[in-house]
Amino acid sequence: MDCLFCKIVEKKMAAQVIYEDDNYLVFLDINPTTKGHSLVVPKKHADNFTEFNNKEAMGLAGVVHRVAPQIVQAIGADGYNLGLNNGVAAGQIIDHVHWHIIPRYENDKLRLWDRSEYESEILDQTFDTLKGKIN
Ligand code: AMP
Ligand code: ZN
Repeated sequence: MDCLFCKIVEKKMAAQVIYEDDNYLVFLDINPTTKGHSLVVPKKHADNFTEFNNKEAMGLAGVVHRVAPQIVQAIGADGYNLGLNNGVAAGQIIDHVHWHIIPRYENDKLRLWDRSEYESEILDQTFDTLKGKIN
């Protein structure tokens, strides 16, 4: 399988690794959204987050939760966004699960998500579609 992040995991390709343990790798994104933008990558390949079972998902989330504040502190940021692009429609380019940690700086003016206007009818329809289906 020709997976870029597997190559990084296997050290066949270089990356700026800032944390590594038996199961995870954290390295700098080569096209950072902000200074310190890092990717948390499980060593075991899975195409996307949905493929993970709940234990694997919790394991990845646990590393993100531990590492993100440390990156923020070490880089001198003021906060962070987390992002996980799941599927082509969501902007996933690399088909190996990874969680983005994007340090944020006061007044960096970055706008990651556009928001639409409040439209009660659409919200009500959406609510009718979803309610009772999530468990
Ligand atoms: P996405 O699949 O859209 O969640 O994002 C893939 C991310 O991987 C992008 O932000 C890229 O900049 C980053 N990326 C791609 N190739 C490399 C690489 N060789 N080393 C570090 N980051 C990479
Ligand atoms: Zn892979």
